[in-house]
Formats: sequence, structure tokens, C-alpha cells
Amino acid sequence: MVLTTKSLKPSLSWGQLLQQSITDPVELLRILQLPLSLLEGAEAAWQGFKLRVPRGFVARMEVGNPADPLLLQVLPIAKELDIHPGFSYDPLEEALPNPIPGLLHKYHGRVLLTATASCAINCRYCFRRHFPYKENNPGFNQWQQALDYIRADHSIKEVILSGGDPLLLSDAQLANFLQRLEAIPHVTTLRFHSRIPVVLPERITSDFAKNLQHSRLHSVMVLHCNHANECDENVAVAMATLKHAGVTLLNQSVLLKGINDDVNTLQTLSERLFAIGVLPYYLHVLDKVHGSAHFYLSDAEAIALMKQLTAKLPGYLVPKLVRETPGELNKTMVI
Ligand code: SF4
Repeated sequence: MVLTTKSLKPSLSWGQLLQQSITDPVELLRILQLPLSLLEGAEAAWQGFKLRVPRGFVARMEVGNPADPLLLQVLPIAKELDIHPGFSYDPLEEALPNPIPGLLHKYHGRVLLTATASCAINCRYCFRRHFPYKENNPGFNQWQQALDYIRADHSIKEVILSGGDPLLLSDAQLANFLQRLEAIPHVTTLRFHSRIPVVLPERITSDFAKNLQHSRLHSVMVLHCNHANECDENVAVAMATLKHAGVTLLNQSVLLKGINDDVNTLQTLSERLFAIGVLPYYLHVLDKVHGSAHFYLSDAEAIALMKQLTAKLPGYLVPKLVRETPGELNKTMVI
């Protein structure tokens, strides 16, 4: 596939598109011509963790299909309220290694900043669905404390902006942060963890790309895409824009029952990502957060899938099967 950097030219700005996101489960089901009975018993689930999904993402769902793999990622259902042993509110115990609000320093050489308090989409399996963002969001105006921490620790080479989704910040805010980070000599790399280039690709503006292109820092964009149906033409254009700006593009997925738990789906996802310039990087086993047990696959099931996938794809298209374990300094390889 030939990558093109032609601009998306939406008639609305990305902020307007974001504002028009669907937050009412009934509206979502009406658009998809699905029965409202799918929501039976689910009200407490969406009251606790709201539905949020951009209309452009909904447009990639199949009308009339209650098992659509994109729909299942966002639709609140009653099963989320079931209690399962081993599932918790903070499966990665992120409340612990938190020297200052909004800054997680779990790994050697890297720090992670929770840059905003929300996302453009609410994924039902999210391990941070109960995360106290309000207490852990430094806010754009309070980043100085985090920057001071980074400046004082010369082992920190990479800064990761993560979820809430950092691309909800404006181009001007990100440019300002980039400039302040560039002033810290030992920092070499800025990494984004963002689902926005997939769910709201119009956010990848030429100003944003130019800021990254002209920075002395290496830029890495780690996307989050779980199914090939998420990668439409607009996503391909956004990837081409980032690639043109010299951004390294990687993807991490979560292995989810009913969504991508078969070898053909995973193979198609890797091939589609590669076609738009993105390398599959990680396939995460589910973090056991309350409300997500219906997406869970055992390690044995995950390993069996990876063996099949490895037999079908060249090595560079096979993501690493990993999990995060509280207290561990690195992700743990499952296979
Ligand atoms: S975009 Fe990422 S952080 Fe936000 S809800 Fe989805 S999985 Fe969670």
C-alpha cells in the first residue's frame, strides 16, 4: 500500500468531532439498529464508567451486528457488574510508585506522565477504568513539578505521555511541553501512548506533526489498535502524516475474548498495521480490572494463539505477548 500524506480536511475540527462523540448508549444502539435489550441491567455499568465513542469510530462498526468487534469494546453491558475473584480496581497498583501527582516512575530511564484526565473513547476493558485521574492529573499548568523531577534525575532519557489520552491536549499545549522538555539535555525521546490516532485520526494535524518533526527529540507514537476494522482510510492518512514527520510508529493491542481472540483476526491486524506503516509491538494479556472479566483469556489460550500466529507471519509482524505485573520493573513476557 502506498502511504499518502494528503490531509484529512474534515469539515469540522477535531475538537468539534470530539464534542460530538456519542455518550448515550441508547443513541449508539439506535444508530447501529440494534435492540435496546442489549443494555438490560447495564445502567450501573455505564454510570460508573461512561460510554464515550467518536462518531467516526462508530461509522466503522457494522450496522445490525451485536457482535461487532468495535462495538464490543465500547458498549456497557450487565456482565461488567459481576464480581470475579482475582479482579481488582487497581490491577497494576499504580497508586503506589507515584512520587508526585501525575508522574509514574516504574521503569529505569523512563517516566510516564498522565497528561490528561480523560480519553476520546472509553474502552470497557481499560485497566485504568477506576484510576483516580483527578488526583493524578498534573494538569497542563502543573507540569513544572514533573519537569523539575525529570531534570533532577539524569537517568531519565525518555518521557512517556500517557492516558488519559495525551493527544487531548491542544497543539499549543503540546508544543509548549515539547519546548520545555527539549531544554532538559539528558532527555532524548518523547513517547506518546495514544488511542486517538486510531479513534479520532483527524487529531493528527499538520501543526502537531511539524512540531515533532522539528524537535531535537526522537518521537515515538505507540498506538492502541485491537482489530483491523479500526484502521480505515483516515487512520492510514494520519499514519502517513506522522511517518513523514519522522515519528516511529508502533502498536500495542490487548488480547480480548470475542474481539481478537483468533489467529486470523490477529494476523489481519498485523498485516493491516504494517500496510499503514505501523509495527505490531505488544499484545497484552488483559489486566484483571473489575468489569472486564468477560474479555479474559487464560495464559494457555493466549500462548496457543501466539504459536499459531508465529507460524503464519514473519517475525517482525508478531507482537510480543506481555503482561504488566505490579512491582516488576519490566513488562513480563508471557511466552
Ligand atoms: S484509550 Fe486507553 S486509557 Fe483510554 S479508556 Fe481506552 S484503553 Fe483506557
